[in-house]
Parts: sequence; structure tokens; C-alpha cells
Amino acid sequence: MLLYNSLTNKKEELLIKSQKVNLYICGPTVYNYIHIGNARPLINFDVLHRVLKLYNYKVNYIHNFTDIDDKIIAKAHEKKINEIELATYHMQAYNNDIKNLRILKPTMQPKVSDSIPQIIKFIEKLVIQKDAYVVNGNVYFRTTKHLDQYGKISNLKIDDLSNDDLNNSEKENPRDFSLWKKTDFGMNWKSPWSDGRPGWHTECVVFNDEIFNSETIDIHGGGVDLKFPHHENERIQWIAANKKPLAKFWIHNGQVMLKNTKMSKSLGNTLLLKDVREQHGVMALKYIILNSHYRGPINVTEETFTNAKIIINKWKNNLQKIQNYLQTKNLYDTNSIDWISCTDISWVTFLKYLNDDLNTANAIMVIDDIIKKIQNIKDNSIINTKFLIINKMLETLGLLLDIQILTNNDIVLLNEWNELKDNKNYKEADALRSLLAEKGIL
Ligand SMILES: [Zn+2]
Repeated sequence: MLLYNSLTNKKEELLIKSQKVNLYICGPTVYNYIHIGNARPLINFDVLHRVLKLYNYKVNYIHNFTDIDDKIIAKAHEKKINEIELATYHMQAYNNDIKNLRILKPTMQPKVSDSIPQIIKFIEKLVIQKDAYVVNGNVYFRTTKHLDQYGKISNLKIDDLSNDDLNNSEKENPRDFSLWKKTDFGMNWKSPWSDGRPGWHTECVVFNDEIFNSETIDIHGGGVDLKFPHHENERIQWIAANKKPLAKFWIHNGQVMLKNTKMSKSLGNTLLLKDVREQHGVMALKYIILNSHYRGPINVTEETFTNAKIIINKWKNNLQKIQNYLQTKNLYDTNSIDWISCTDISWVTFLKYLNDDLNTANAIMVIDDIIKKIQNIKDNSIINTKFLIINKMLETLGLLLDIQILTNNDIVLLNEWNELKDNKNYKEADALRSLLAEKGIL
């Protein structure tokens, strides 16, 4: 499989030595419901997860929770509730969103509040090695020691790496970033330097260190917004601590724009995932996201949702008709196909696109094409095979259309309906039609 590596700015072959893939996707800061921009990496990288599983890889998918952060503390303070309570509520809401998105679950979801001793130990190591320094109870990473590596993911020169703490005069260099912050506002912990809490960029490094035993992992990813500062700062800490790469691949998905403006909480133009789910359905959202290359931006409008819903419904209706046809004619055969060696041209083309840097948009074109063509096929066994292939393609993209498998009773009713139509008994046929439509079969 070819994947675009942000570190080298080119597509590279993803070479996996064992049957196991270690994948880390940076997770949410839990102080709010997620918007569809936050859902995009979940949907895009779920396809990567599914493709790897298709090839029988065991995927160790780690997706963390940032449950300690200034934004959480500020919001909890504003709402006059406990920070843990706020974070716990939003972690549950997030997992509910994951469930509703019907993506494959992360293997582990480590959270910061469980790892403070490990984070302190890690920062101590950096201080001892002089990769970090202490001023007034605060600890900063010394970027000047690693100028040859810092900025490689975002492709920025050191002078372009602005951070929101540039004017902090206690730092040796304006580009240095905070590892430990002395504070008595909100939750804080004792450390060798002060009572305080860790900066955002150390947690993922420590989780990687702990979970993967300081080994270089296969893929580290997230939204393009994370390239700098988060991923640069993660990477440089890891290199300082472990003297080797954090990940072989760094992958990033593009932004979601709402009516041509970047979707962001601070601009107040967000579409919350839970609202989109109610209004349009999750599969329409997944269709929109997957019908575009994951690295590029997506612009979302009302019209995009309307179009996505039309296509999803069209696919669903056509596929249910085929399911009904195969079952009522007793032709439905789910004899499993060996998907790795399957030579069906549509299937091979579909995989070729996904193996070329997850080109889900082209993969969707293959699905659309095969759904159109299957209706003209006369040979029943080919219809059955193509139908199984379409279902597997949809499953591989996580586009789950819930085509109903008929019960014996449904089959009797469908056959009865067909007979009534053939005998031009339209009144009774219509009544039966309503019943079948209610069941979602017609
Ligand atoms: Zn991270």
C-alpha cells in the first residue's frame, strides 16, 4: 500500500514487517461535543484500519483523550462544575459518537489523568539530558538543540514556527515550548519543579513510549492542523528521548470547510456531529468525506448533504431490490470469497485505488459503476457474486447501508406481492406493498 508521508512529502510503500500494525491517531480534548471536522480523521483513518484488516493485519489502534487542558479547566470553571466531571461527560459523548459513526473501535484510549507520573518521569529525563530546562517552576523544551529535525513534518523553517507563547521572556528561545506549567488554577499535581500540570504535547509521546515500549511505530496521524505545533513538538521530544523516529509514517487529513470558511470552534461555525447525524444521517456524512481525497479540504453545504442523501438512498434501494430478488429466487449464496485473491475486475480496481494512498473517491466511483451495471446482468450467479462484492466494498469503506436480509416470512410476502401484481390485483398488491415498505424491504 502506498501512503503519503508528511515527513518526506511523498507517497511511500507502507512496509509492515510483522502481521501487526501500530497506529496512533491523536484524539480529542474533551470539553465540547465534536464537530464534523473532528469526525473527519475518524472516518478517513477508519478506512485505513479496515483495509489493513482486510489484509489480515492486526491493528493496534491507539486514540488518546486529552482530559487535562486549560480549555477544559476554563469551561468547567465557567460552568461551576468539576473538571473531571466535564471531561468524563465528553469522553462518554465522544465514545457515543464513535459508536454512531460505526467505525472500528480503538484498541486503547489512554488518558492524561491516568499518566501523570509517567509524564513527569519523561520530562525529568529530558531535563537531565538538557533537552529541557526549568525556569521559575516551568519546564520548556530546548528547540535550539534539535534544529536539524524540528519543522520537518510541517516543512517549516525555524523562523516560521510561530507559537502562541512567543513573547514569554523567561524562555531561552521564543520557539521553545512548554512541557510543564506551574499553576494553582484548576487541577494540578506535585512535580520536582512545581505544582502544576503538563503541556499538551508530551502526553502522546509518553503514551507511545509506554504502550509501544519506546519502539518506532508504523503510523502516527491526525488532522492537518496538528502538523504544527503538536506533531512537530511530539516528534522532537521523542527524538530527544529515544534517539530514533517516533513513527515511520506521518499522515494528515485535510480540513472541513463550511460554506467556504474553515470550520472551527473559535469561529463559531461548526456543525456538530450529533446534529448532522439526526438531520442527515451518519452515512451521508461519511459519503461526503470519503468522496473526496483525505488530504484535501472539503467544503460542506446544504446541497452536499442533499446530494449525498440522494446517492445513499439510491444505492440502498437498488441493493435491497437485488437482495430481495436473490432471496425470493432462492439464489442468494453467501459462500465466502477469498478477498485477497479475488480477481474480479471491479474488486481489483477498487483495491488498487485504496492501495494508492486511500483514494476513496475513486473507490466510490467503482461502487457507483458496479451498482449501475449489476442491474443489466442476466446471469444469476454473476449477480450474486457482484452483489457480494458490492457489499464488501461498502463494508471496506465503512459505508454501512443496512440492507435487510429477508426472513422466510418476508420471502413468502414478497412472492405473494409479485403474484398479486402479475394477476393485476393492484388493490391488494398496494396494501401488501405498504406492509413491506414499513418493514424497510421495499
Ligand atoms: Zn498527539
